Amino acid sequence: MYFDSKAAQVGTCSDVRTGAVSTPIYQTATFCHPALGQSTGYDYTRSHNPTRQILEEGIAALEEGYAGFAFSSGMAAITAVVMLYRAGDHLVVSEDCYGGTYRVLEKVFASFGLQITFVDGSDLAAVKQAIRAETKAIFVETPSNPLMNIADIEKLAELAKENDSMLIIDNTFLTPYFQRPLTLGADIVIHSASKYLAGHNDLIAGLVVARTPEIAERVRFVQNAAGAVLSPNDSWLLIRSLKTLALRMRRHEENAKLLAVWLTQQTWVEQVYYPGLDKHPGKEVQDRQSSGYGGMISFRVTSPELAAHILKKVRLLRFAESLGGVETLITLPAVQTHADVPPEVRERLGVTQNLLRLSVGIEDARDLIADLAQAAIGNAEQEAGRGKI
Ligand SMILES: *Cc1c(COP(=O)(O)O)cnc(C)c1O
Repeated sequence: MYFDSKAAQVGTCSDVRTGAVSTPIYQTATFCHPALGQSTGYDYTRSHNPTRQILEEGIAALEEGYAGFAFSSGMAAITAVVMLYRAGDHLVVSEDCYGGTYRVLEKVFASFGLQITFVDGSDLAAVKQAIRAETKAIFVETPSNPLMNIADIEKLAELAKENDSMLIIDNTFLTPYFQRPLTLGADIVIHSASKYLAGHNDLIAGLVVARTPEIAERVRFVQNAAGAVLSPNDSWLLIRSLKTLALRMRRHEENAKLLAVWLTQQTWVEQVYYPGLDKHPGKEVQDRQSSGYGGMISFRVTSPELAAHILKKVRLLRFAESLGGVETLITLPAVQTHADVPPEVRERLGVTQNLLRLSVGIEDARDLIADLAQAAIGNAEQEAGRGKI
């Protein structure tokens, strides 16, 4: 079945007793047993819940993996995956990863004895060089956050395999609509489902998909043991969101392409980071491994003052953290999403005070462009002595 059909049908008519078209919300903590030694298949909602299970089967189908797991946040999903490892194990992680991923690895798991090396995930030689005998996983975001560097999933999967380790991909930015890492050789996919999968800025959730039964068993154990599961209610909301994922992703991308090109034409913009632009260094890899470029754009304006001015003056665009919702959001990663990354690391990566990040929504692109133009032009004209908008 094609992706759109699979997405639209997640959980449809799953309740055989009533034939309910929408998935019922099994808002229960526990389940009655028919007799000693017997079970309906459900014992306690931390372990299994029918609503959560529909969601988990849905994301597994969309990512073309063996099994899916739903968590109470993207960070809970990441934490569960990192709990597959133990003290002394070594992970190679992309250096411009989500700030919260950096924080949990550096400030929580490092103190438990996990060894972590941060490298540029798009630099295959650097990843190779970072691998040691104790390396158990390569963990990469592609496109990376916020600089939209593209890592080659197939090449990384080969490298992981040669070294007896796993490849973990955070697929939050592109979603399975545009990119399915498990089909390219990755072992685990992670999502902050709070972003595009939920899509409406109204829900915090995380998902994990495992490629094989063996990996799934290990994730299932941690999910039940550590217990950061998604509630039945939030599972239902996420099921509802998945049904429109394909439509939303197409529109996010259509708008992002228009905005990215428009931004490249502005005198107050120094650089635009969007993998759909022809001059993006990762475009060739991106075209090979994904069917699109998504809705995230980062761009560097001429000064930190102009960045601050834009954040103050935007009206339709909202100045807020997060991404992936139907509403367009704009943020300054250096002080928001990446505040926990040390200043010298941010500087080296290029996450500076004049770098803005856009999560392009599903509004009319003409309104988005008009809003950015009015927010930027006064200040930009003063600075550059001209304003080409
Ligand atoms: C937001 C985000 C996370 C963390 O997810 P939460 O749902 O906020 O806990 C992880 N990875 C990426 C790429 C994200 O954007």
